[in-house]
Amino acid sequence: AFVTFEGIDGSGKSTQARLLAEALRGSGREVVLTREPGGSPGAEEIRRLVLEGDPERWSAETEILLFTAARRDHLERTIEPALAAGRTVICDRFADSTRMYQGLSRGDLRALVDQLHALMIGREPDLTVLIDMDPEVGLARAKGRRGTEERFEDFGPDLQRRMRAGFLALAGEFPARFRVIDGARPVEAVAADVLATVRAAL
Ligand code: C5P
Repeated sequence: AFVTFEGIDGSGKSTQARLLAEALRGSGREVVLTREPGGSPGAEEIRRLVLEGDPERWSAETEILLFTAARRDHLERTIEPALAAGRTVICDRFADSTRMYQGLSRGDLRALVDQLHALMIGREPDLTVLIDMDPEVGLARAKGRRGTEERFEDFGPDLQRRMRAGFLALAGEFPARFRVIDGARPVEAVAADVLATVRAAL
């Protein structure tokens, strides 16, 4: 099964992805925990190209191509082989993040994102856990653990609010695979909710 986590920066999705992987491993599943952008050697290289350095380096369209290229490599080298071997793949961000970030942040490019997705990716998750949270809470959390690599939180609260609304709209667009979890609770409570939701769905 292919499970993805989505949400705004600081929503705690990476922590929740890791806790879910641990819980499922504990019950005997073989789990591959991975992330985007990245998740394969080539895609991690593209991650550095996109996330490090001058934010103006790439046009919005080129950035979409780079994220799609990274996803294609990740899919070929990591995700598809693991699924074919019967493993559970848990991925921290996937195509929905590109639909939101590249699709919304620098103009309305969602149609381009969707076209490239249809052409080069195709695969959708069996289940997408959206960790939903107020952006003010998420931003405060994200600032607390910020490394030098990330540039995207400079989006600020306004764009993060649009992202939250966008993710919720996306959940409405794909109700069969999306589950919305309230992330503004203690980590353990969210994790228990995620585990129950995933167990019920898989
Ligand atoms: O989830 P993570 O914090 O690793 O994401 C790294 C950064 O890349 C985030 O700040 C996120 O906003 C950004 N991002 C993006 N487009 C994507 C995936 C992530 O702008 N498709």
